[in-house]
Amino acid sequence: MRIAVLALQGAFAEHEQMLHRLGVECFEVRQLADWNQHKDGLIIPGGESTTQSKLLHDLGLFEPIRQNIVDGMPVFGTCAGLILLSPMHLNTMDISVQRNAYGRQLGSFHTVAPIIGIGMDIPMTFIRAPYINEVLSPRCEVLAQVNGHIIAARQGHQMVTAFHPELDKDTRIHQYFLSMI
Ligand code: GLN
Repeated sequence: MRIAVLALQGAFAEHEQMLHRLGVECFEVRQLADWNQHKDGLIIPGGESTTQSKLLHDLGLFEPIRQNIVDGMPVFGTCAGLILLSPMHLNTMDISVQRNAYGRQLGSFHTVAPIIGIGMDIPMTFIRAPYINEVLSPRCEVLAQVNGHIIAARQGHQMVTAFHPELDKDTRIHQYFLSMI
């Protein structure tokens, strides 16, 4: 198995470390030539969604990535990656998103919560995180909520979390994504 990690900006290196710990091969996507390599899935990391989106457009990656996801390629978006998969950008997941949803004071926090299909007590690190206002289609399943807000969801081969699982030691979320492939 070989996972593409979008490496334009943000917390991509931590996802790569997580995949290495799980013994899974990965490579960085920095330009179109990288994207054309064989891959079984894609991780879109946290960071700054507006910057990542602009770079995707500038580098000619936006439409090829969007088309591959529409065609069924498994994808996991964390934080800014969640925003990128929403109708604000790639528009492959039927979710409405609130950016920077926790305000300045509560911008970053850590908690534990259960995720449907993954387990109990999953550590969750939120950094200027979004949450999902609403899932817009029955194809999109809510996987977890914190403080009454949806913070993880799955729509077939697509999965998103509003927090950063790559920043904690728990490997269960990445293992779950790999099991979707
Ligand atoms: N606030 C960022 C954005 O709107 C997301 C933050 C993150 O990925 N940790 O893109």
